Amino acid sequence: MSAPTNIFFCDYGLACLDPKLVKPDNFFSGGFHVPGNTSNPSGSSVTSASVAQIPGLNTLGLTLIRFDFAQGGLVTPHIHPRASEILTVLEGSLLVGFVSSFPENRLFSKVLEQGDVFVFPIGLAHFLSNVGNGTAAAIASLNSQNPGFIAIPSNIFGTNPPIGDDVLAKAYNVDKSIVEKLRAQFHS
Ligand code: MN
Repeated sequence: MSAPTNIFFCDYGLACLDPKLVKPDNFFSGGFHVPGNTSNPSGSSVTSASVAQIPGLNTLGLTLIRFDFAQGGLVTPHIHPRASEILTVLEGSLLVGFVSSFPENRLFSKVLEQGDVFVFPIGLAHFLSNVGNGTAAAIASLNSQNPGFIAIPSNIFGTNPPIGDDVLAKAYNVDKSIVEKLRAQFHS
């Protein structure tokens, strides 16, 4: 089965499992006790159990995520176009937040500790930042088998092909040299 990879993939476009052939492993994914590799520029990792990993999730509208953070690690501001997300902290201290829609753009933010729970409503930009003195980990559920992931910085400055200088310079009311500097962070 091919994994759903983008916003154009229809949530319910996957074939049903054959009832005669379906087996327990179609509802199974292991390894969620294992911290992900956070040796990357963001200092974070996301381990996913969506319909891509668990075929039996097809049509059920659920995904489970594990987050791991190095000290100072960040899950960049992003949007899930098809899911709300409910999160609990396993260890560490996470600064989290989401932003309401235009024109208020109100930030709803808290520092979470072990056992705390927070919700990111569907379609709103949100982020997670490790503000503790060590590593951090969290588990989240999303109410779609294919929530989608739109990372806001690269969705604007890391597009292929690039959004033109004129558009972004005007949108952000900055000089084109600043646009080019930001774009360069995503096109190395
Ligand atoms: Mn999220």
